[in-house]
Amino acid sequence: MGFSTQIEAVAYCRTPYKQKFGIPRQPGLVDFVRGFVELTAPYNHIDAVRGLEQYSHLWLLFCFHENLAQGWKTTVRPPRLGGNEKLGVFATRSTFRPNGIGQSVVKLHRIHQGKGKVILEISGMDLLDGTPIIDIKPYIPFSDAIPEAIGGIAQQAPEQLEVNFSHLAVEQLIRLDKRYPGLDKLIQAVLAQDPRPAYKKGKPDPKRYQVALYDLDIFWHAHEQGIEVETIQPFCA
Ligand code: SAM
Repeated sequence: MGFSTQIEAVAYCRTPYKQKFGIPRQPGLVDFVRGFVELTAPYNHIDAVRGLEQYSHLWLLFCFHENLAQGWKTTVRPPRLGGNEKLGVFATRSTFRPNGIGQSVVKLHRIHQGKGKVILEISGMDLLDGTPIIDIKPYIPFSDAIPEAIGGIAQQAPEQLEVNFSHLAVEQLIRLDKRYPGLDKLIQAVLAQDPRPAYKKGKPDPKRYQVALYDLDIFWHAHEQGIEVETIQPFCA
């Protein structure tokens, strides 16, 4: 019998990203968005993170928990290749993989402590709200960063689209500003990544899309020049 072990969450991640569609496809693509990593018992002891404040960035190892039930596939069609070409699962960052483990580098801002809680304030994550974190490690620049590395089909960050707001969306943003400061910047940064499947890009696309941020549904469509946000609504019950 081969090696097997049991893994449990050491923390859960809180992010504004409430559904998979629309989450940046790698960390750092939307770098200002804050999230929180809340350690769970018995790891929620300040001693477990003693010294971590000396690092600016962290590796989060996590579980693609929303996709676990669907298992893994030997080959996948990376969105970057328009869904036309297959690559081996180990040649991609597919979320459908054996063991369902993801890894992301994020920026560490602060460590909050109190009332039995230890919470890491981070930014730049590409994680769904509620993602189980299975390990946390400091990012070590001298060995983790390899400037001359070759990035295969992902050598550069994807191009960004221009994002505009309809008159209605601008009015809604003004009303929502107190409760969600910087919401316009967040929506713009998320949609500029163009969450649509790659085969839709550069073609007429009449579809109305929706992404979920905080407890809001953002409805939008793409046009030749970019993306227009139509309306912003609280989640429908
Ligand atoms: N940086 C990580 C890596 O390379 O292992 C993740 C890359 S993966 C392509 C990023 C995507 O995973 C996000 O855009 C989102 O759609 C999806 N995702 C994030 N958290 C998830 C979760 N908890 N369960 C399933 N899918 C998730």
